[in-house]
Amino acid sequence: METIQQDNLLRGGQFLVKETKCEDVFTLEDLNEEQRMMRDSTKEFVDRKLWAHWERFEKKDYAYTEECMREAGELGLLSVAVPEKYEGMGMGFVSTMLVCDYISGATGSFSTAFGAHTGIGTMPITLYGTEEQKMKYVPKLASGEWFGAYCLTEPGAGSDANSGKTKAVLSEDGKHYSITGQKMWISNAGFCNLFIVFARIEDDKNITGFIVENDPSNGISLGDEEKKLGIHSSSTRQVFFNETKVPVENMLSERGNGFKIAMNALNVGRIKLAAACLEAQRRVVTEGVKYANERVQFKTPIINFGAIKAKIADMAVNTYAGESACYRAAKNIEDRIAIRQADGNSHQEAELKGVEEYAIECSILKVAVSEDVQQTTDEGVQIFGGMGFSADAPMEKAWRDARIARIYEGTNEINRMLSVGMLVKKAMKGHVDLLGPATAVADELMGIPSFDTPDFSELFSEEKDLLARLKKVFLMVAGSAVQKFGPELEQHQQLMLAAADILIEIYMAESTLLRTEKNAKRFGQDNQGPQIAMAQLYLYNATETIIRKGKEAIISFAEGDEQRMMLMGLKRFTKYTNNPNVVALRNQIADKVAADNGYTFD
Ligand SMILES: Cc1cc2nc3c(=O)[nH]c(=O)nc-3n(C[C@H](O)[C@H](O)[C@H](O)COP(=O)(O)OP(=O)(O)OC[C@H]3O[C@@H](n4cnc5c(N)ncnc54)[C@H](O)[C@@H]3O)c2cc1C
Repeated sequence: METIQQDNLLRGGQFLVKETKCEDVFTLEDLNEEQRMMRDSTKEFVDRKLWAHWERFEKKDYAYTEECMREAGELGLLSVAVPEKYEGMGMGFVSTMLVCDYISGATGSFSTAFGAHTGIGTMPITLYGTEEQKMKYVPKLASGEWFGAYCLTEPGAGSDANSGKTKAVLSEDGKHYSITGQKMWISNAGFCNLFIVFARIEDDKNITGFIVENDPSNGISLGDEEKKLGIHSSSTRQVFFNETKVPVENMLSERGNGFKIAMNALNVGRIKLAAACLEAQRRVVTEGVKYANERVQFKTPIINFGAIKAKIADMAVNTYAGESACYRAAKNIEDRIAIRQADGNSHQEAELKGVEEYAIECSILKVAVSEDVQQTTDEGVQIFGGMGFSADAPMEKAWRDARIARIYEGTNEINRMLSVGMLVKKAMKGHVDLLGPATAVADELMGIPSFDTPDFSELFSEEKDLLARLKKVFLMVAGSAVQKFGPELEQHQQLMLAAADILIEIYMAESTLLRTEKNAKRFGQDNQGPQIAMAQLYLYNATETIIRKGKEAIISFAEGDEQRMMLMGLKRFTKYTNNPNVVALRNQIADKVAADNGYTFD
């Protein structure tokens, strides 16, 4: 059983060079009974405790955020990812994604508090802690008796996270470290009991992680609450450590391992942040269509206008694509963890390596979904017209809350460059064979194209053929760029960003197609009309982006005949035999969302 699974399970980044069968992707429609119950109880909590009181969050009622976090703890929502041994529920990766997803529906203030606590505030201990550290701290964090926060960023160390100046000095008796430094933008700082703090010992190249209990009498003080654009009730403060004594046994992992811990915690954080944009998006689509169904102008509900239908369709498509890709990757991670555990790895090691394997996908998802939620909320504001600009209506806060997702957990610029950088590194290490396929594409460019007209009668046969060619665009562009610049490629940031956009669109489009194909096969094509339209529309939009980004990349580094040949390749690889009627697709999707008076594809 495990062997079969392992054979079918692609490594991170391999989606580019290996075909995935639709039967091998996990989709939201595959949730089991337990997962559905988890989702429903999360929704019930959100509706009752968060959505119904959104004004309190907007009024910066931090105490209410804390109260909701405590109740989330009582309901077990903070312990989903925590192993049973440490009094958690020990549920799989997909279940933990589900909770992050559905808890995001009402307010970014709460999902930030939730994510900072359950993710970066707790995971470093479950993933890197000693047995004693885990027994001491994790049960308290899992139950919500204690809350965690994560102190990496400093005034001078943001994206360059390993450059922090916070110092940890070992005492003469060797029993404790004394930590001194200033941390900035720390979520949950105002009510947390424990900080994960990164500091430098002597002149070490890399920082070290520590578990620091929040005790004001131990040299810990806080700045005022930051005045922010959105997520108003998420507590964000500076944290000052002034000779804060931390027992040596509270070091996380080893000296100098902090940067690795920080990055691995962020890998998990990134995919979960992507999930934590999804329910926010669904609710914005639902609020948008409800308004459009009711609002009458020119004697007709505005939903009847093509301009509004286009927005509703694009919003729904982006949401559906985000769902498709997030749960595909989540299950890959869950399966990889299971395989590693079956091979004898501890849960801790298995989880670390399982997530690390899909770090490329985690970055892709973080970028794609954080930008989709922003686009969705922006169009939501537009559908509401003047009311979209009003703080009394739901869109204004949703728009402001969405903005942070592009900044934290590594900015989208950093994550774009990471996704391509990690892929190139994997190829260099031989973990993903990009060279072979890239050479084949280069050979194909020199050859004569086939003029056969393929048979595209089967569902998605043309789309899958196109997708396979879009992958060739990436291989052509990235392959030539690596050949030209070698390790210097990283210096060519705009080229890296263009390549990342191509990579992102391929993963998102493929995930959307595979989910829909799987569902069309099992539920019947007739039952999946709007979903098929969504997969087709996503692919069309992705192809347009790839054409633009591909061209930009090619003409930035190739000249003369080489440029001409690559541009011809780009044209050939992005060509439709039968152009989809995107207006008809959009109308079909919007009509379904309008008829359901909400987003009902999850
Ligand atoms: C509300 C909020 C909550 C947060 N919560 C936490 C938390 O709980 N714990 C924590 O440790 N941190 C937290 N952060 C910090 C957050 O992770 C950082 O703000 C983020 O990593 C960016 O760092 P920075 O703000 O210093 O921006 P900078 O690093 O100064 O970046 C500024 C701009 O330059 C770009 N840039 C930087 N370096 C490069 C490069 N090499 N190449 C190309 N472009 C580059 C960035 O993409 C960005 O557009 C939070 C921030 C906010 C706003």
